[in-house]
Amino acid sequence: MAIQEDDFKRVISHAKEYGFVFQSSEIYDGLSAVYDYAQQGVALKNNIKDYWWRAMVQMNNHIVGIDSAIFMHPTIWKASGHIDAFNDPLIDNKDSKKRYRADVLIEDHVAKIEAKIEKELAKAAKRFGDAFDPEQYKATNERVAGYVASSKNILARMGDALTAEDLQGVKSLIEELGIVCPISGSANWTDVKQFNLMFGTKIGASADTAMDLYLRPETAQGIFVNFLNVQKTGRMKIPFGIAQIGKAFRNEIVARQFIFRQREFEQMELQFFVRPGTQKEWYEKWKETRMKWHYSLGFSPDNYRFHDHDKLAHYADAAADIEFKFPFGFKELEGIHSRTDFDLSSHEKYSGKKLQFFDPELNESYVPYVVETSIGVDRMFLAIFSKALEEETLENGSTRTVLKLPAVLAPTKAAILPLVKKDGLSELAQSIFEELQWDFAVSYDEKDAVGRRYRRQDALGTPFCITVDHQTKEDQTVTIRHRDTMAQERVAISELSQIIDRAVNVKHWLQKMK
Ligand code: ATP
Repeated sequence: MAIQEDDFKRVISHAKEYGFVFQSSEIYDGLSAVYDYAQQGVALKNNIKDYWWRAMVQMNNHIVGIDSAIFMHPTIWKASGHIDAFNDPLIDNKDSKKRYRADVLIEDHVAKIEAKIEKELAKAAKRFGDAFDPEQYKATNERVAGYVASSKNILARMGDALTAEDLQGVKSLIEELGIVCPISGSANWTDVKQFNLMFGTKIGASADTAMDLYLRPETAQGIFVNFLNVQKTGRMKIPFGIAQIGKAFRNEIVARQFIFRQREFEQMELQFFVRPGTQKEWYEKWKETRMKWHYSLGFSPDNYRFHDHDKLAHYADAAADIEFKFPFGFKELEGIHSRTDFDLSSHEKYSGKKLQFFDPELNESYVPYVVETSIGVDRMFLAIFSKALEEETLENGSTRTVLKLPAVLAPTKAAILPLVKKDGLSELAQSIFEELQWDFAVSYDEKDAVGRRYRRQDALGTPFCITVDHQTKEDQTVTIRHRDTMAQERVAISELSQIIDRAVNVKHWLQKMK
């Protein structure tokens, strides 16, 4: 059974106990909503980034990558709209003095209604068996249809109020829904205010020449301002894309849910430049492609869903999230946005430079339209990690904790274990380790009884354990143990490389997208 909502704490403690994620500055009591990736975590994170980069850049001849600086000219944030519009609506509870994002309070309220729908559906599915059609039930069962209509209505009203910047309307909705502060339990709210999420800093040595800067809140703008440089030097023809992985910073108010919402995080973004008028087609295509990428990792498709936006950002003409079933419910994992020509046109205006493409087929120049896909590395990490963590009850009644990471993402692909430390087995295991090390991330461990070492590797998500025993000395064979099934088989040392490669090779995994 996969870990459930109330076990989210276990996900966090497993991440700490096994060296995946630590609270930043822990010996100084930590820094809120900032995290460090530890020895195992950094490997998982790098593998996630590599899996994305290969799918997006390496496998697409018309997509190239860049790595732009975090510091950028401050006018960029004026042009992008971040100075004026990158705000969250905040509300304080007067009794607990706690601050919340007003939209998140409303969304959490809707999530509770959605949980009721899920519960009703699960009950009905049991009752009706195989013939059960959840969509039909949602439409026809009076109570469930009522829940569905009410959650839709609340989100639409919130969307309208936010689009119209009607902060009083947002507050009224909170009051009308009877939303109370989870800490004080009271509905004693302040008015809703806007709060800018960008971190400010300064560049330059002396106070009078120093220039105010912002830490970038998204990586996308680094792509837009390099659009022409890349298009010209890369001789790119529309449609083409520019991809980037990098840090972004947001002064988030709701600083909880572990690495789901951090103040410093990493994004993997693609800006795909298209002919004006074709953006809807590309938007649909990228929605589909990105979902296939997620599916390729092998978790059940039930864990993913699209959420089309009611409230569009100032730059978008269509937007959807890919939501993932995190331990605390369905939440945004990735955003896909049709950004129109908003960014490039705005940079033209503010920089005074033309950012256009001459289309030889149309024999005209235009500002391209853009479709963006944007996913947080850390959210992807949390999605994979929480879904992979399982507590299994074995046939003999004992339990084992196993991290069923997709093998392609696992930090360590195989652990080489001598059965005992004597009789030359260590040396033999060591030599196997040194050979495999050229091609794979492998580890060597000779501490403790072998059973305990297996369990440790299960908890780390290592797909294979390779055990060297006395027979190995005689016939050059080892036992290979599979993490998910715990099945063991005897294979020749010479076959190991091929067996591991078959399981972890990126090609085998990405081919599932076809
Ligand atoms: P949310 O509504 O959850 O605040 P967002 O809509 O502001 O997210 P985008 O601006 O679309 O997010 O950013 C793209 C992606 O970056 C998100 O889908 C998410 O995966 C990631 N992301 C955004 N903010 C954070 C954060 N504070 N911590 C970790 N990842 C984040």
